[in-house]
Order: sequence, then structure tokens, then C-alpha cells
Amino acid sequence: MSKTLKFAVLPGDYIGPEVMEVALEVLKAATEPHGITLEYTTADVGGAGIDNHGKALPDSTLEVCKSADAILFGSVGGPKWESLPPKEQPERAALLPLRKAFSLYANVRPGLLFKELVDASPLKTERIPEGIDIVCIRELTGGIYFGQPKETKEVDGELQACDTMVYKVSEIERIAEVAAQTALARPNGKVCSVDKANVLETSVLWRKTVIEYFKKNHPDIPLSHMYVDNAAMQLARDPNQFDVLFTENMFGDILSDEMAVICGSLGMMSSASLGTGKNGHGQPFGLYEPAGGTAPDIAGQGIANPCAQILSAAMMLRYSFGLGDIATGIEQAVRKAVEDGIRTGDIAFGKESVGTKEMAAAIVERL
Ligand code: NAD
Repeated sequence: MSKTLKFAVLPGDYIGPEVMEVALEVLKAATEPHGITLEYTTADVGGAGIDNHGKALPDSTLEVCKSADAILFGSVGGPKWESLPPKEQPERAALLPLRKAFSLYANVRPGLLFKELVDASPLKTERIPEGIDIVCIRELTGGIYFGQPKETKEVDGELQACDTMVYKVSEIERIAEVAAQTALARPNGKVCSVDKANVLETSVLWRKTVIEYFKKNHPDIPLSHMYVDNAAMQLARDPNQFDVLFTENMFGDILSDEMAVICGSLGMMSSASLGTGKNGHGQPFGLYEPAGGTAPDIAGQGIANPCAQILSAAMMLRYSFGLGDIATGIEQAVRKAVEDGIRTGDIAFGKESVGTKEMAAAIVERL
């Protein structure tokens, strides 16, 4: 197989460039033996964009992304830019326009906690003896965050604010398909759709659409439904009862953060945001990034955990380049390194720890 992977690399700020550098080394080591060439262009984003070009998403960076088949993103923001007006702050001014420019409608977040790291979870370890292995899929471009009208006005002498939650059948169907495909790629994959169909009109349509879509297109995938308040409780009680959990934008915002907390260290959590368009490989265009932020408290010391960035790169191989086998190889190498006791400080629990570069080198060794 001879293949070239063309992607944009946006390292961002603080630990972003540190973990990106080693993630690219792991990516190279995993793909080179298969005759695959990496053709990536690095560009400024976030605080680096503001400092070097005057805005968080410089036009030149957007152009780099547009001519690529995927974006490998670090993380952006930090104390240096916190006094800027909210609209100009790195995270908001870089990620929101990127989501918009590429119609990134599906956020896929694995909730993965290795057996060896169960102590990192705030849950009682007897509830998760084998760790956690679930996926949360959140609709990202619809619902109450974007519905109109969205306004504050005076009514009968007092201020009143309103947001509007809107979903179309086509929006529900396309996220249902991402949930189905994710389930099909997992052993014994099953899907739980989360809504509030006992109260919300949008949820009634959501549930009806999901039932009909699965009946017609994926009748063999086990499908269940749960109200969001119960899902929040069940996640904390017994997360592994879920496999693929999928839901609308605001519910997913909250549940995916709850899932991140129960899975322990942010340094291990990857994510993908998939777009509507197909790239040059006939796969979804996507943006791949760690779930955590720029960790200014540990930046510059060479101790950040690179696993989240490395696992995000593996997701890029799987979703945007159709290289699921190589992605699995990277994931297994990360798991093996952790099993072998090689840990950065955030997952060492007071035991001996290694730095960012050593962690990545240990993963390369195990590929
Ligand atoms: P954070 O995720 O950066 O850090 C929270 C804690 O987790 C810190 O103690 C940090 O050291 C630790 N941590 C995170 N990633 C780690 C890693 N790879 N290895 C080891 N430890 C790690 O959250 P925060 O401190 O609230 O935010 C810092 C900045 O990051 C803020 O400016 C915020 O806006 C930004 N942020 C950006 C993104 C993004 O780019 N998508 C996401 C979240 C936060």
C-alpha cells in the first residue's frame, strides 16, 4: 500500500506543541512500515494565532485546513489571553469558526479508562474492576446552542431571556448514523439514545426518528433509549452498562464531561469532531484533539501526558483515512506502555514517572 496522508497540524498553546511534537513521531512510526507518507502543514491557532497574526484563527491557518483532509489539533488558550473580550478568546475564536467552516456536526469521545488506571477515577474501583470502555457521541451544530430566536428583552416591565431548541429529522438521522457506525466498529456494539422525550418536543421527534432510522437501516444493532436525567445517574452508577451513548448538543455537552471525569485523567482522553463533507480519501473530514486543555500549570516542563494527543491521531487514522487497523495498533501500544508501568506524572499515582518524550518513545517501542 502506498498512500499519502495530507493533514493540517495546529498545535496551539502551552502543552499543545509539546504533546503534538511527539504524537507526530508516533504517527510516523506507526504508518511508515505500511508505505504511508505523512504530508502535513503546521499552522498557528489560538493564542499563537493572536500573537503572530492578530487573531485566534488566522486566514492563512483556515486556508491550510481547507486544503487538508483532516485537522490534528492540540489545545488553545491560557492565562496570557484571558483578559481579552470573550469573543476574541482563543478557544471561542478558534474552535467555533472551525466547527462552522467544516460543519463539524458529530463529536465522538471515547470514555476509556484502562484497568491499570482505575484509581484515577472518582468512582469506587469495585464498580469498574475492568476499567471503562464506552463512547459518547454528541450532536454539535444543532439544538439550543444555535436555535433562533435567542434573545433577552423586556416583557411586562421585566427582563426575559429565551433560547430555542430546534432539531430537523435530517440532523437526527446523520448523528444516528455516526452512532451506528461506531457501534458496528466495536465488539458487541450497542447503542443507547439519550433524550428527554417525556417533556421536550425535540426529544419526541428525536426518539421517533432514531427508532425509525435504526429499524430501516440497522435493525441488527441493539438500540435502547434513556431520559437524560437517568443517564447522568447511570453513568455514575455503572458506566459500562453503556457501549455507544448518543445524544443532542446540550445533553451531550454535560454527559461527555461527566464521562471524562469518571474516566480519570484528562491526559488520556481523545476526541474527534466529524464534518458533513467527504475528504480526498472518501472519508469524513474531521478535527481530532485531546479532550483536555492547554494545562498551563505544567507547560514547559516536558511532563505533559502525550497519550490524549496520540490517541486523537489514531482516531484521525480511523475516521478520516480509513486506517482502522493502524489506529488499533497505536491504541494497543498505548495500552501496553501503561500496562508495563510507564506513566507520566498525572497517571503515576505518586510512583515513578517519565516525561512526555519518554512516554512517547515507550509507545513507539511497543508498536
Ligand atoms: P486543562 O484541561 O488544561 O487542565 C486541567 C488539569 O488537567 C490541570 O491540572 C492539567 O495539568 C491537567 N492536564 C490536562 N491535560 C493534561 C495532560 N495532557 N497531561 C497531564 N496533565 C494534564 O483545563 P484548564 O486548566 O481549565 O484550562 C487551561 C486552558 O485550556 C484554558 O485557557 C482553557 O480555556 C483551555 N482549554 C482549551 C481547550 C481546547 O483547546 N479544546 C479545552 C479545554 C480548556
